[in-house]
Amino acid sequence: DSFTARSLGDKKEKTLAMIKPDAVDKMGMILDMISHKGLLVTKAKMVLLSRAEAAQFYIEHQSKPFFNGLLDYVTSGPVVAMEIMGGNAIGVWRELIGPTNPSDARSQNSQSLRAKFGTDNTRNAVHGSDSKESATRETEFFFPSAGPSRANTAQFTNCTCCV
Ligand code: UDP
Repeated sequence: DSFTARSLGDKKEKTLAMIKPDAVDKMGMILDMISHKGLLVTKAKMVLLSRAEAAQFYIEHQSKPFFNGLLDYVTSGPVVAMEIMGGNAIGVWRELIGPTNPSDARSQNSQSLRAKFGTDNTRNAVHGSDSKESATRETEFFFPSAGPSRANTAQFTNCTCCV
């Protein structure tokens, strides 16, 4: 029925999560927290971004004063990009990561990822898409649906929670 169709559809919301270089060694704990929220990791890869790639990913911030520092940071080591899926995935993941500034995060909810693993306004451990439009653009950035890298990308097809 339509209710079932709607709730099944909701479970398929997707977002782009990124573990930034300073938190890649916390990947196991981060994956556990994703699972505990009922979200699924449907694609994942570790990649060392070039400066040009990082600039493209963060293009909306190109005129900000922190842009160069942000590029230094996200290219300082490999990142882990993940497509994560589930009910309200965008909002649930944003809630789990916490506010941009880790000190704000610590004063609001010490269980958020930025509260636990973030250092400062730049080195804040994780990224999450902030809207459906960003989620689509950012997922396509790391996991293009066409082109040569597709052959190297494991596609998640048989999710028992949503078929
Ligand atoms: N950032 C920074 N200085 C600032 C604000 C943001 O270096 O004053 C970095 C930080 O790593 C942040 C990223 O730029 O995660 C993108 O900023 P945005 O405002 O989109 O925050 P987010 O959506 O990641 O919470």
